[in-house]
Amino acid sequence: MITLKNPVQIAKMREAGALLYEVLQAVKQAVRPGVTTGGLNRLAEDLIRKHHATPSFLGYEGFPASLCTSVNDCVVHGIPSDRQVLREGDILSLDCGLVLDGWQADSALTIPVGEASAEALKLIAVTERCFFEGARAAVKGNRLGDIGHAVQTLAEANGYGVIRDLTGHGIGREMHEEPAVFNFGLPGHGQRLYPGMTIAVEPMIAMGDWHLSQDDDGWGMRTVDHSVCSHYEHTLAVGEDGLPEILTLPGFDWKELDDGTDTL
Ligand code: MG
Ligand code: MG
Repeated sequence: MITLKNPVQIAKMREAGALLYEVLQAVKQAVRPGVTTGGLNRLAEDLIRKHHATPSFLGYEGFPASLCTSVNDCVVHGIPSDRQVLREGDILSLDCGLVLDGWQADSALTIPVGEASAEALKLIAVTERCFFEGARAAVKGNRLGDIGHAVQTLAEANGYGVIRDLTGHGIGREMHEEPAVFNFGLPGHGQRLYPGMTIAVEPMIAMGDWHLSQDDDGWGMRTVDHSVCSHYEHTLAVGEDGLPEILTLPGFDWKELDDGTDTL
C-alpha cells in the first residue's frame, strides 16, 4: 500500500531531511586518506543522537551500524570498521538514514578520498546527474517507469551499468515503504505518481557490468567484475504541480541545476 503524506507530514519529513543533510555533510568533511570507516560511523551516530533523532540503519534487519560505507567496487551496504582505512584515490559511498519525531529520511552520496581518477570523478558526476534526471520525472501524472527510464538512459549513454538488484523505495513513517523505485524502466509504465507520494530515488551505477555478489558478512554488495560503483540518493516529495521537493537537500532550487550542469 502506498501512503500519501499531507503537508503537515511532509513538513516533518522536511525537518528529518534537513538534519540528515547536516549529518552527511559533516561526515563528508571528515573523509580523507587515513581515516577509518568505523570512525565515520561514530561521527554520524553521535550527530544523529545529539539532535534527538534515531539512526534508522542501526539494527535494521540486523545491520550493525548507523552509516553504510561502501568503497570502490562495493556499491551499497558496506559495514563500517575500525580496521578499514581509507586510501587516496578510493571512492566512498556514504548512505545514512534517520528518524526524527517519527518520520524518516534516507540519503546517500559518493565522494573521492583525496584525489581520485578522472574516470572515477566522471562516474560520480554522472550518477548524481542520473538522480536529478530521475527526480525531474517524479511529477504528478508521470509513472515510475519515467523515473527509471531517465536514470537508465543517462547511465547507459555513458557506457555504465545500472544496478538491477536494488531499488529506491517509498519512505515515510517506515524507511522502506511501497513502491519500489527502479533505476530502469519504460516511459509511461508502472505505478502512477500522485501528489503526497514521498520516495527515495537512488541510482546505483557501475563503471562496468552491473551484476553483484554479496560479501561474506551478509551485507556488502559488490560488482562481480570489481568495477567501481557510485550511489546517490535523496528523499523527495511529489508535488501538486511543478518539480518535486528534495527533502534531504534543503534550499535546493531546480533553476540552479539547469543553469550549472549541462556538461554531461
Ligand atoms: Mg539510503
Ligand atoms: Mg534508500
